[in-house]
Amino acid sequence: MLYKDLVRVYEAIESTSSRLEMTEILAGLFRSSDCAHIRRIVYLTQGTLVPEFYPEKLGLADKLYLRTLAMAAGTKESEVRQLWAKEGDPGTVTERMFQSKRQTTLFSRPLTLDRVYDSLLKIARSEGSGSQELKMRLLADLLHDATPVEARYLARIATGRMRLGVATQTVLDSLAQAFATKADKPVVERAFNVTSDLGMVGEVLCNEGLEGLDRLHVTVGNPLRAMLAERLPSPEEILERMGGRAMFEYKYDGLRVQAHIDGERIKLYSRRLEDLTGGFPDVVESLRKAFRGKSAIVEGECVPVDINTGELLPFQEVSHRRGRKHDITAAMEEYPVRVHLFDCLYLDGEDLTELPLPDRRTALTRCIEVSEEVRFSEARVLDDVEDVERFFTEALTAGCEGLMAKSINDDSAYRAGARGYQWIKYKREYRSEMTDTVDLVVVGAFHGRGKRGGLYGALLMATYNSETDRFETACKLGSGFDDATLAALPEMLDRYRLPQRHPRVDSRMSADVWFEPAAVLEVLGAELSLSPIHTCAFGKIREDAGLAIRFPRFTGAFRDDKMPRDATTTQELLSMYEKQRKK
Ligand code: AMP
Repeated sequence: MLYKDLVRVYEAIESTSSRLEMTEILAGLFRSSDCAHIRRIVYLTQGTLVPEFYPEKLGLADKLYLRTLAMAAGTKESEVRQLWAKEGDPGTVTERMFQSKRQTTLFSRPLTLDRVYDSLLKIARSEGSGSQELKMRLLADLLHDATPVEARYLARIATGRMRLGVATQTVLDSLAQAFATKADKPVVERAFNVTSDLGMVGEVLCNEGLEGLDRLHVTVGNPLRAMLAERLPSPEEILERMGGRAMFEYKYDGLRVQAHIDGERIKLYSRRLEDLTGGFPDVVESLRKAFRGKSAIVEGECVPVDINTGELLPFQEVSHRRGRKHDITAAMEEYPVRVHLFDCLYLDGEDLTELPLPDRRTALTRCIEVSEEVRFSEARVLDDVEDVERFFTEALTAGCEGLMAKSINDDSAYRAGARGYQWIKYKREYRSEMTDTVDLVVVGAFHGRGKRGGLYGALLMATYNSETDRFETACKLGSGFDDATLAALPEMLDRYRLPQRHPRVDSRMSADVWFEPAAVLEVLGAELSLSPIHTCAFGKIREDAGLAIRFPRFTGAFRDDKMPRDATTTQELLSMYEKQRKK
């Protein structure tokens, strides 16, 4: 397959903001492609080369890319830098360069999909001495043989800025449509949720059809997409939803981990499916000691503990751990963590995800011997509102965020990747105005004035509308940033910068700078009110207004464990507002 055929599809996708149309276009591409190519097409279209949980990451540093481009185009670096500053997108810069600089195509060979993919993979994999030169040479070779429009997409993917605006859900729809029917999407989605490998799902579907998906099982070493919780404001409503009785657990404020245990080999994955193993050798070791079995997938929450008092500390203390590759030992002493396990998805060759929660919990207690470092989540089966309130207070006193209610009915299977009412969170914040923090997505920014001249004055923040798969603005966020964070923001967000509003962002405001919805920040507001300039839940309460967060403050927490679709949803904010109004 020629790369230009893929690029033609990218252009068509970029020219529409209709999800239906995108789905049609992609389904057409899948249908007309060789099955052997589907996997690569799926990854490349999502701006990656491998599933999320693999170590290879694309994203050449801008400086290195700039040098490569200058070399490939036979131009001075300063010229490239100038154009880059003007255009703001390496894709457009590259395309322009090649439009104006290309003298001859005499020695160029048309790019094939395989060549592009193989070279990019080599780039992502090369490390150590000489790797910079190798990366530059591989990429320059590709650029040399690329047409200007192909070069645009090569630049974007190489620098980690593919951003076609194609959501995972759209790819799932397209795959179902191409190789089965629209109605079969749940089957395709289930296969993705238990394997987290969209490329593989696509390939199997193309080769073997829906039946092929049956043999994709939960496997140790392949993280499952995490089951997520809905929220409700009161124990009454929670119990009613759950059929009068449920298992209530402490909701720890930590870092979710999915541990894959295969004999002595243990891997830890985050909720975003990143490999966390390197940052938590102590957790690996304590799990190894606690586990009684051959192989398993267990889930729990890592919580930092104050070594002096034994009290649980807030989540921020754990987040220090993750980036610190070089000084893990010191970090382990500074922020020791305990893991509270709450689920068992696989044990000794058996997929447990279809079993009801009580059975999974029994399996968990069977295969783990508790220790100081490895414990179970505090859990109690309750059917009485007052008992729930008491347990809730107990959880808060223990330093937890609140409670997680979990269904114990026969259909309480582990629903990988799904947010539903099988799990419901009940947090302290529901009880007051807006003492609850929300997690919002950065979609734009405004230039600063006065003391903030040259920096961002405020960020445009959005909720995720899970019904429409779009991002809706809820506030301009300008307080709560310390000087260092303020100074670091432009560079921190630069990789998400877009020349115009992202197709899945709804905004009535015109930001100075637009971003791909990617960064998630924790925000605390004073109250929720109606505003005609924000699009969150627009028209839901009053015809001419959306919901806005008043007096928002950044809490200091970058929720980089959350993907934009894990941010607070429009629906959640709406129910918080309705709750507030009732009082
Ligand atoms: P939230 O991040 O507010 O959507 O809440 C969901 C998160 O709570 C999960 O992803 C877990 O990281 C965390 N959590 C803490 N305690 C529990 C528990 N007992 N069961 C399930 N999730 C928990």
